[in-house]
Amino acid sequence: MTDCPICNSPAHAVEELYDDRFGHPGRYSIRQCDRCGHCFVEKPFTSEELARLYTSHYQRSHFELSDFTPVKKAGGFIGWLNGENQAAYCWVPRDVRVLDVGCGVGETLAYHASRGCRAYGLEVDENVKHIADSLGLTIAIGTLESNPFEPDFFDVITMDQVVEHVSEPVSTLKEAFKILKPGGRVILSTPNSRGWGRTVFGRRWINWHTPYHLNIFSKKSMRTAVENAGFEVEKILSLTSANWLYFQLIHVVLYPAQGIPSVYWSKERPWKFWELWMRRGIKILHLLKMTHAVTRFWDLLGAGDNMVILLRKK
Ligand SMILES: [Zn+2]
Repeated sequence: MTDCPICNSPAHAVEELYDDRFGHPGRYSIRQCDRCGHCFVEKPFTSEELARLYTSHYQRSHFELSDFTPVKKAGGFIGWLNGENQAAYCWVPRDVRVLDVGCGVGETLAYHASRGCRAYGLEVDENVKHIADSLGLTIAIGTLESNPFEPDFFDVITMDQVVEHVSEPVSTLKEAFKILKPGGRVILSTPNSRGWGRTVFGRRWINWHTPYHLNIFSKKSMRTAVENAGFEVEKILSLTSANWLYFQLIHVVLYPAQGIPSVYWSKERPWKFWELWMRRGIKILHLLKMTHAVTRFWDLLGAGDNMVILLRKK
């Protein structure tokens, strides 16, 4: 029996899943904590296995400078309808020193810099380095465990869809705590293990993303994890992008067999005629804002598929 990595209570097996995006071999048992609702992959990887997994399926070595688009956020009613504030970077004030952990090629850094921030990024994929250098962005290669920053250095640290990928989330959060100034904030976004989508879509739920998502938090397990790392919780919000439901519907319809890469996520083969028509049909629902209405409904009930967590270091 493997216990919950967050609260150490007993956990039971809930799903037996495979990589339904890139076709990485193997099946993985997912367990859920009986007490806090936290979900996790039963046998976590070694760092070497994780590095191999990401190099095979997540590399950005083909990313071109011309593909770079700084993030842009819609405001007002449209912004609310889209669920724009589901991303951690949206909560960063102007004129602060900010670190984006898992920054990719640095799209958010350009946004923060345009708002008077001193923006830094941290990324494990060293392929992003040449993009960062060409654009004058400050990106360090590594993880929070190996970061080069001084203690008490940042006003704000963001981790957008990152904490679910790390094998020891509490240790990672403790590293963030060290380099944050007293009174500073960490902002996280991550899937919700008790979101409505999991119940409705079952094993085809988009946020399982096995085996890349090692830990899927509930509000309760998130609170325990961040408090164990030393933080004070300001808010845990249910806030989800309407785009996710669009991706989710395509994922449900085009769900691949084990070992086969998904045509939608991997882009490894041309689309079949019927697949294109399915995607068009779903796109129409999205353009008619049906996905938006459903997403806003569940977020208003507090049971959306994504959480935004605002933390403070006292
Ligand atoms: Zn637990």
